Amino acid sequence: MPLIRYEISDVVRIVEEPCPCGRPFHVIEAVEGRAEDVLFFSRCNGNSEPVAVHPNVFHQALELVPSSGWQVVQDEAGLTVRMTGLRMRPFVGT
Ligand SMILES: [Zn+2]
Repeated sequence: MPLIRYEISDVVRIVEEPCPCGRPFHVIEAVEGRAEDVLFFSRCNGNSEPVAVHPNVFHQALELVPSSGWQVVQDEAGLTVRMTGLRMRPFVGT
């Protein structure tokens, strides 16, 4: 499907091989997020270069939690993780 006027700040994964149809355009394998979704944190060591954390980091960690949704909010106070629809599993063990 050709994408026209597509949001250009999306972070996408491009397929390396040419499209089998012969058209010369890049083929997108997956949309991985928006550039605006990347969070930046200051370093503890005084280096002024911020650390960029891609949303995939939060996806990998938070999608392990049985919930219906989550949101990560960064503000002056720090980082807040909001979760909804948490499904608690019964404790089994000793
Ligand atoms: Zn094609």
